[in-house]
Amino acid sequence: MSRGTLIDLLYLVAATTFLLALKGLSSPKRARVGNLTAAVGMLIAIVATFFQHIDGHALYHVPLMLLGMAIGLIVAVPVARFVKMTAMPQLVAIFNGVGGGAAALVSITEFVHIHSTRPATYVALEVMLGVLIGTMSFSGSAVSFLKLQELMTGRPVTYPGQQLLNGVIGVVTVGLIVTILVNGSTALLWVVLGLAFLLGIAFVLPIGGADVPVLISLLNSFTGLAVAASGFTLGSNVLIVAGTLVGASGILLTRMMSAAMGRSLPNILFSAFGSVVTASGDANRADGRSVRSGSPEDVAVLMGFSSRVVIIPGYGLAVAQAQHVLRELADLLEGKGVEVFYAIHPVAGRMPGHMNVLLAEANVPYEQLKEMDEANSELQTADLALVVGANDTVNPAAVDDKASPIYGMPIIHADLAENVIFLKRSMRPGFAGIENELLYNPKTMLVFGDAKDTLTKMVAAVKAG
Ligand code: NDP
Repeated sequence: MSRGTLIDLLYLVAATTFLLALKGLSSPKRARVGNLTAAVGMLIAIVATFFQHIDGHALYHVPLMLLGMAIGLIVAVPVARFVKMTAMPQLVAIFNGVGGGAAALVSITEFVHIHSTRPATYVALEVMLGVLIGTMSFSGSAVSFLKLQELMTGRPVTYPGQQLLNGVIGVVTVGLIVTILVNGSTALLWVVLGLAFLLGIAFVLPIGGADVPVLISLLNSFTGLAVAASGFTLGSNVLIVAGTLVGASGILLTRMMSAAMGRSLPNILFSAFGSVVTASGDANRADGRSVRSGSPEDVAVLMGFSSRVVIIPGYGLAVAQAQHVLRELADLLEGKGVEVFYAIHPVAGRMPGHMNVLLAEANVPYEQLKEMDEANSELQTADLALVVGANDTVNPAAVDDKASPIYGMPIIHADLAENVIFLKRSMRPGFAGIENELLYNPKTMLVFGDAKDTLTKMVAAVKAG
């Protein structure tokens, strides 16, 4: 078998592992194996590439490449190992941005190269796409990182004529690309690079911090497309397959996230959502209604009389890092003969699968996790719904208030349970910035405080009871 055929075969193996990995990642049970499978596939692809011959020559600059990889490993491994779960979206943003930037750099190098040797228009088009999409993904991801890391305001940044200005930059960029395709100007390439960089920033600025995870998924898809474009330019099948898979899965994930938030993608990208907070954050409302609050011990007593408890986790669980003590409470209750399950909303938290990952970290058995529809069908028979740091994902306004910004978002119907307990620190709203009527429902009791502290006290009370 020739060297070329062997390398192609290895690339085929790598591409197959990427597909298997995606399949694995679609279920929390097999996600770790899926991730590992993709990593092995990527290792095979990288090793095979080192044995490739280009135009009859072995690869040049191998020591330099190895040095680059070593630096990447030294930086990325500790960062990925020690990142907090709540900081995962910004880590994904920065890794994704670097990927887009790399694809753009490959395209630029190839452009300078083809410009002197083979000025084919279609190759130039691939290169232009790689530069445009890769650079936008790079600068857009960098701004996303700054927003999520709170190094700049998380609120949408808007100014008069913003959409028009972005449109003009977009049209000028496309015009320049067409010109380059005709005259092959390297000087104009640098202008396109600069404009693409600006476009990436301009695209992300008006998007509110909490919508940024959806945006990152979209940018991730862009990076995939930029990589696929580089794959065409370099004639690398494995890059084309990997880039296309990232592009397709990124766009699917973006659509699924928008659907689970009950909003369209254009609404997320262009409506500057999150700039207005309408909730008063007041326990006593102007209409005279107020909330009922209680202590962790009160909840422990209620739980003692329950036979079915549904735990509804949300973003606050991640903030409080209360997953371990929550599991301890669930185990205690089960030991006392109470049936416990967790109701998982697809966009609870701040990234897809956030609650699954968090609960898996505390070794909560998968059988106890129920997806939204299944959980909703069983909530009617629950004695108690324990809402731990969730808010929007249980807000009935999504169902019965047509004027609400979250109207149409599917929710977990905590209100169907006999009693509803909210663990939160204050009357502040969740990500959508809107009032939650359920807090004022007569069957609801609020236990104010950090979820971890409250749950720790509840565990002590249940043990003592
Ligand atoms: P929310 O953001 O609606 O609410 C979080 C709640 O947690 C708040 O009420 C907050 O109240 C409470 N909280 C915060 N810290 C603590 C703490 N330490 N202890 C106790 N409570 C705490 O969360 P949900 O999970 O219900 O909803 C997620 C929202 O994020 C949805 O609107 C979704 O659309 C959006 N989103 C989700 C994405 C995803 O992929 N998962 C992506 C983008 C957006 P208080 O401050 O009073 O404690």
